[in-house]
Amino acid sequence: MEELEAIRIELFGKKGYFAQEFQRLKELPAHEKPQVAKELNKAKEELYRLIQAKKDRLLAQAIEEQLRQERIDPSLYDPTDFKGARHPVSWTMERIVEYFLSLNYAIETGPLVEEDFYNFEALNLPKHHPARAMQDTFYFRDGKLLRTHTSPVQIRTMERQKPPIRMISPGPVFRRDYDLTHTPMFHQVEGLMVDAKGKVNFANLKWILHDFLHFMFGEVEVRFRPSFFPFTEPSAEVDISCIFCQGEGCRVCSQTGWLEVLGCGMVDPNVFEAVGYEDVSGFAFGLGVERFAMLIHKIPDLRILFEGDLRLLEQFR
Ligand SMILES: [Zn+2]
Repeated sequence: MEELEAIRIELFGKKGYFAQEFQRLKELPAHEKPQVAKELNKAKEELYRLIQAKKDRLLAQAIEEQLRQERIDPSLYDPTDFKGARHPVSWTMERIVEYFLSLNYAIETGPLVEEDFYNFEALNLPKHHPARAMQDTFYFRDGKLLRTHTSPVQIRTMERQKPPIRMISPGPVFRRDYDLTHTPMFHQVEGLMVDAKGKVNFANLKWILHDFLHFMFGEVEVRFRPSFFPFTEPSAEVDISCIFCQGEGCRVCSQTGWLEVLGCGMVDPNVFEAVGYEDVSGFAFGLGVERFAMLIHKIPDLRILFEGDLRLLEQFR
């Protein structure tokens, strides 16, 4: 293929044979020009066709060769050796759900194809908010979208039910992202607790998340950092002491000794207004399941979770 490409450039390149020959046409007497140009064009077409044909043959050979080398011998497979294993993301998800079921939380689900109102508007995400930008969200032509978080389930549940509410919504979400720590599809668990005004406060939220993070990660330090989310006020991000270096500082925690694991806060009054709730208070939190799975199992690259590589999956038997 390389040789062929070299020949192609030699003939058809900017300074190649044909370019030079056409350049030289100028030097010929006028009556000879048409004939020579015709011959040149004919040769050019013929050579181009030959090179293309040779290229197709070489490509076919290369594919043939690759297929031969990568051939799988099914007779080598021993079905008695097969043992299924739970995927680390499923395992982590089940463990999270298990904790909240023990606190009598209900599990709620919602559609993956959402309406703007549930995914953004009702969650106090105004029209100009950056999270709405096209690079983050997969839109359909009719204005619907793939939900970017599990939060719309909160709205749907509150529309359907009267308080008190105690729920989690686990499930897939979608964003236009792809790198070491992002995939276009990942899983979240969203939590919501709502009751009459004053009955649910930040201290309740703090206690539950403390207890939950100890359940998931064992004896770790937990800290709350003030933050901002459109749908909660006040809002906080929650860190645990780095489970890789025990808070000493390492590459994974960027030398800070802390790992961010959760977002949470008291439900913003605008969200309650959107669903017609009055005189209530509540808290909400959300987390990425893959992030938990990566930390618990010390998996360095999020993308390998979805490649179906048996060498990874077999480690979770
Ligand atoms: Zn660390």
